[in-house]
Amino acid sequence: TLISATDLLDGLDPEQRAAVLAPRGPVCVLAGAGTGKTRTVTRRIAHLVSSGHVAAGQVLAVTFTTRAAGEMRTRLRELAATGAADPSCGTVQARTFHAAAMRQLRYFWPRVIGDTSWQLMDRKFPAVRQAAQAARASTDPDSVRDLTAEIEWAKSRLIAPDDYAAAVVEEGRDSPAPPEIFTRVYQNYEQLKVSGDTMMLDFDDLLMFTAAALEENAVVADEFRDRYRSFLVDEYQDVTPLQQRVLDAWLGERDDLTVVGDANQTIYSFTGATPAYLLNFSRRFPEATVVRLVRDYRSTPQVVGLANDVIGAARGRIAGMRLELVGQRANGPDPEFTQFDDEATEAAGIAARIKKLQKRGVPASEMAILFRINAQSEVYEQALTEAKIPFQVRGGEGFFSRTEVKQAMGALRAAAERTDLPEDVPMDRLVRAVLVPHGLGDAAPPGQQARERWESLVALERLAADLVAMQPTLTIKELVSELQERAASRQPPVVDGVTLASLHAAKGLEWDAVFLAGLTDGTLPISHALGDRDGTGAETAIEEERRLFYVGVTRAREHLTLTWALARGEGGRKTRKPSRFLAPFLPAGSSAQRAASGSAGKRSKATRNPLDPAGEELFERLKTWRLATARDLDVPAFVVFTDATLTAIAEKQPADGAALVKIPGIGA
Ligand code: ATP
Ligand code: MG
Repeated sequence: TLISATDLLDGLDPEQRAAVLAPRGPVCVLAGAGTGKTRTVTRRIAHLVSSGHVAAGQVLAVTFTTRAAGEMRTRLRELAATGAADPSCGTVQARTFHAAAMRQLRYFWPRVIGDTSWQLMDRKFPAVRQAAQAARASTDPDSVRDLTAEIEWAKSRLIAPDDYAAAVVEEGRDSPAPPEIFTRVYQNYEQLKVSGDTMMLDFDDLLMFTAAALEENAVVADEFRDRYRSFLVDEYQDVTPLQQRVLDAWLGERDDLTVVGDANQTIYSFTGATPAYLLNFSRRFPEATVVRLVRDYRSTPQVVGLANDVIGAARGRIAGMRLELVGQRANGPDPEFTQFDDEATEAAGIAARIKKLQKRGVPASEMAILFRINAQSEVYEQALTEAKIPFQVRGGEGFFSRTEVKQAMGALRAAAERTDLPEDVPMDRLVRAVLVPHGLGDAAPPGQQARERWESLVALERLAADLVAMQPTLTIKELVSELQERAASRQPPVVDGVTLASLHAAKGLEWDAVFLAGLTDGTLPISHALGDRDGTGAETAIEEERRLFYVGVTRAREHLTLTWALARGEGGRKTRKPSRFLAPFLPAGSSAQRAASGSAGKRSKATRNPLDPAGEELFERLKTWRLATARDLDVPAFVVFTDATLTAIAEKQPADGAALVKIPGIGA
């Protein structure tokens, strides 16, 4: 077939073309959101193949989600189908690191490891619990989740058990257990996996073994490197040291590597990812073609302006790499900022606005509601169901289909059947007692997965509390059937409905209309990020929350609506404040603006006395804090819920004389 080079370069600006046409070798595209990085990397693949530089089968493109990989393959197939690119482009491999490693490992395993069979471990929890037991570490579910997340972090940072203690000191990291104990848990865990007849590999092992196979077996490495010759990575700012090691093993001495990324969209540092490889790319490959893109093709100038302001307030090293985005599209509506009295009203308000946009011709599939944590989706699922608007939940199933929610519902049902219960036990205690063994601890565990499970249970508990508040005479049986009814009345998710997604799952995607919902302080930024104090120029958890907000804002093509609610339940106390990130955008002098600025202040009135009604939000925040210090929170007193926490805090400090207040009867 005759390939016309102009077709492939259609719809690319000069900088994008430079990246597409750069000779084989290292290429780095550093650019903000919506500037066409993904388009560029896809076209570069098409160009490399169509121009005969490499065969389609020699290209390996890596992305961070299965969906992004699928999208890249689709775009390549489209280019092939329209004749813009060689037909073979449709067969290029675009995979996640894990999927690529799994395939390679299957192929090389017999030669590298031999006869021993292996199996992918889908749940680490039981093995970690066993490892913890053997190391005499705590085995309560929260602790085991902490330990699991810490093992994942250590492995993605290439920290072996023996090096862990030193790494903790070096990184000033809060270990979930004394480092020598954690080291033993980690060692036990690694041993456990290889002690049976079938070797168990976790997700990180897939990467580790792949890298090791190539590093240690020259024959295998030669064969692999002969087969794959050109590598491309999208969203490179979120690569972990372990993934980088795999990439290096793939490359060997070669340098045919294209990376694209935006350091200001680094949102996975908590898993061990780091933008350092992106930022240091041209130091490592001095001959690299480096391209910067600043034209934003995705969003209206109004959205681009807001995005620039959001990220303009960022601090730290990454922020120094920022380039102002220049909007290319025609003007659109101004972003809307809307405050609601409570969460249900907020969700209904969003549903009403979606209906209006639908009438104006925006299809449901071109709209998204984005939020900080998956547990927030419940209230929007309900509002959309009531408004008969089709929706889909991305990066997770609908609230009632989540494993932990299903299990917890099962436990509640069982409890209801058992309970012919003197009914004098308060319902909230009863629900809590059932949910605690499922992981509803007092504090959010670290690690995204564990935290999300915990948050689902908190949301379920809240839902139950709301139902009880509406009908105070509800029995446990009635409560459970109310909950079941809610679960059953959910419309089944459809493919082309409104997307509900967490901000993390929205990375790289775009919609005509985006709702950033639940923007209260403590949710975005999330409460557990607030403990990190902003040192001058230091990377902090708050800065990662700001980048998450930036990722959210930049998903919108045209309509952007930012919402928050002052109270949770209907008619509830308005203890919440708008996110501190909103302060610069709210009308000067308005109460919302004052509240949002107050959230960021060091000693706002609300934080002065945590037991004061106005301090209830802080009270909520404290619940999610296990080991904050009084100075971190800047409060004169701590409220704690269990004796263990009390002891832990007392041991750690309080040097500055904060009072310790234990509320009896809660949580223990
Ligand atoms: P993110 O940082 O969010 O991943 P990105 O830099 O990868 O964004 P793309 O998704 O590639 O950006 O592009 C954003 C939008 O702009 C897409 O709809 C894409 O089709 C469009 N686009 C990219 N480049 C151009 C261009 N030169 N002309 C017109 N539209 C473009
Ligand atoms: Mg992209």
